[in-house]
Amino acid sequence: MNQSTEALRALLSSPQKVVITMHRDPDADAMGSSLGWASYLLRRGHDVTVISPTDYAQNLRWLPGADSVLVYEDAPMKKHCKQLIQEATLICCLDFSALSRLKDLGKLVQEAPGIKMLVDHHLEPELFADPDFMFWDTQAAATAQLVYDLIKILDGSAPDAAAPDAAPFDVPMSECLYAGIMTDTGSFRHGNTTPEVHLAVADLMRSGLDISRVHRLIFDNSPLSRLQLLGHVLSEKLHVLPEYRTAYMTLTADELIQYQSSIGDTDGIVNYGLQVEDVVMSALFIERKGEIKISFRSAGDFSVRDLAFTYFSGGGHRNASGGRTQLTLAETIEQFLSILPEYQLRLQAVQ
Ligand code: 5GP
Ligand code: MN
Repeated sequence: MNQSTEALRALLSSPQKVVITMHRDPDADAMGSSLGWASYLLRRGHDVTVISPTDYAQNLRWLPGADSVLVYEDAPMKKHCKQLIQEATLICCLDFSALSRLKDLGKLVQEAPGIKMLVDHHLEPELFADPDFMFWDTQAAATAQLVYDLIKILDGSAPDAAAPDAAPFDVPMSECLYAGIMTDTGSFRHGNTTPEVHLAVADLMRSGLDISRVHRLIFDNSPLSRLQLLGHVLSEKLHVLPEYRTAYMTLTADELIQYQSSIGDTDGIVNYGLQVEDVVMSALFIERKGEIKISFRSAGDFSVRDLAFTYFSGGGHRNASGGRTQLTLAETIEQFLSILPEYQLRLQAVQ
């Protein structure tokens, strides 16, 4: 990391035209890490644009800087985004490392002449665009944590709880980074919640960050219809397969319409499956935009990342992954049920 940070520091010593991009359907870590990094670069006089491949959840719109994020799939934006990517001297790819996660933006980014920088913590096999700078640590709790570490190093103050005045973070930047760290650690309860995570948060809090406000704006900010959709799924659509210690849920396109579900409204529903006693894998299948989007969650050392990668064109982390199929919902469920025997022993072995 140090070799790269020295070269990056040198690059950033003169003004750059920067594009920051993140994975499709960005979550709070993708958006928070991108906006936190953008805010840091803006403060240092760079010309910075954040581009999301797709629209993003309503409960992320309050994030400082979100109002200037360009959404590539908005038809009127495409030409402008293309030009920005073509002209960028530095393209930063945050919170993903598989090109497919950029959707239609992938080809543009790959072919762009600018210097490429990747900051990510996913377990992915595909390293695209031959990045000039790579800050990739699959042990990191969140991409926002990596951005935090990077900023500390660039500013010459390695993470250190005993140096409160050295923090280069202001409140908006801290809110963005905290949103990413807090959500990717499941509010500090997943196994990725290391001492470094708590030290980083302590440092961000010293900037004046109000953590209750961030929790409220992310979690207690749902339209009523979202909670009603959750109630419907839990009472009508949750199936438990005790022999596989697995729970799964489905949502059809009609149900999404019935509950006026918009992007982001289904985030988090999959986690409820893991609350059932003895369940160690939960899956949620959603019929959306002509494909089936799948979310997987697991407990302990059972890897849903391997399952998503092997059978559902996806990836992610050991305990949180996603994928998709072009099959019908019924066919997708059939495929899922047919592979469970292969994983039965591993599911049963989870402590
Ligand atoms: P979610 O279920 O919240 O959409 O995604 C869980 C995790 O899996 C996230 O870290 C996300 O980046 C990753 N993920 C979700 N869908 C895909 C996918 O289609 N491909 C890959 N490679 N990763 C995914
Ligand atoms: Mn992340």
